[in-house]
Amino acid sequence: MTAHGDEMYALVERLYPLCRSITGDGVRATLDIVGEYIPLKVHEVPTGTQVLDWTVPKEWNIRDAYIADPAGNRVVDFRASSLHVLGYSVPVSATMPLAELRGHLHTLPDHPSWVPYRTSYYKPEWGFCLAQETLDALPDGEYEVCVDSTLADGHLTYAEHVVPGQVADEVIVSCHVCHPSLANDNLAGIAVATYLARALAERTPYYTYRFIFAPGTIGAITWLARNAERVNGVSPARAEPRAWGRVKHGLVLACAGDPGALTYKRSRRGDAEIDRVMRHVLTASERPHHVTEFTPYGYDERQYCSPGFDLGVGSLTRTPYAGYPEYHTSADNLDFVSPEAMADTLAVCREAFAVLDRNRQYVNLSPYGEPQLGRRGLYDALGGRSDTKQAQMAMLWVLNLSDGEHSLLDVAERSGLPFDTVADAAGALHGAGLIKA
Ligand code: ZN
Repeated sequence: MTAHGDEMYALVERLYPLCRSITGDGVRATLDIVGEYIPLKVHEVPTGTQVLDWTVPKEWNIRDAYIADPAGNRVVDFRASSLHVLGYSVPVSATMPLAELRGHLHTLPDHPSWVPYRTSYYKPEWGFCLAQETLDALPDGEYEVCVDSTLADGHLTYAEHVVPGQVADEVIVSCHVCHPSLANDNLAGIAVATYLARALAERTPYYTYRFIFAPGTIGAITWLARNAERVNGVSPARAEPRAWGRVKHGLVLACAGDPGALTYKRSRRGDAEIDRVMRHVLTASERPHHVTEFTPYGYDERQYCSPGFDLGVGSLTRTPYAGYPEYHTSADNLDFVSPEAMADTLAVCREAFAVLDRNRQYVNLSPYGEPQLGRRGLYDALGGRSDTKQAQMAMLWVLNLSDGEHSLLDVAERSGLPFDTVADAAGALHGAGLIKA
């Protein structure tokens, strides 16, 4: 149950201090560390590149930022937490009275000891985020403000890792890498994705699994723009319907380490295979969980499920997007995530992909009356199993529903039998030549 929990937590701890954003060296440093665990192909896309309806922005980098009080003490210090600076702040070096400075300060009056996470990607702005109680303790006077940042032509950075499968058809697993020191909202997802990739590589999976580590929104849009053929089989410029692309299924992973119950948000299609697999696995495992309908909000499922792509991509979180008070604050820290929760999220992903990988449709080659199983040694083959009766029932169900219309998941759901038992039965029947894929 807790496999790799401590290792994933250790990875989150390493990534936590870095100042990530939608571009810049914080993203690169993050990918460098993830690259120690799984090999990554890093892509650098120049500022100004047109990506679907968007343009890759200038690259933001920051070295230091602080507010110093009249006595020269750093009362707000980027070195203490990357959350203290408004993401994408333009550089500033000035002295000003507190009254003027207030217009650039962001606090959370309802949680006076927490520091909010704020950004201003597309409007040139500078600012600081701090605890309300810190602000309340500041005396009037002249304050020195410094943001030592650069906003210049550069690149947007994202990375991919591929676990080759038996077939070229792909499952994508996507997580965002653009949040600074927030543990649940992106680092836990990165850690689970990393260990999921390692687990899948232990034996060659059926599908090819492509992991995407990209900044939220603009990163996913950039990936889609550069992979339109992989996704749709045609370029979006030709405005032809989807269908022939290699990407068959996908999962957006986020908020993977908090103590809440798992939440699966369906794809836009609502009945995609991944939707059915996730619901089945969550229900069969008897974990407390929620399955919710698609909304065009949240994480990058918004992009993958935009109507031109309409991929079978769902989203797995524990507590969903913006669903907890610690969300986008300094309280989403290393205490908010746990090895156990990440291990549980990882376990569910592994169970779901194990089902997805084995789910097939078969056709019964002997559909007129029951074929004689004993003559083919199929009853004997079950002798050693502790679930002989179940396995026998599974064979009868697979034979009965294998009409080319029903998948093994359909068989498992209709029969109430465990998916693995059904898939094993299909394997035995296939071996005996009674069904074909
Ligand atoms: Zn977020």
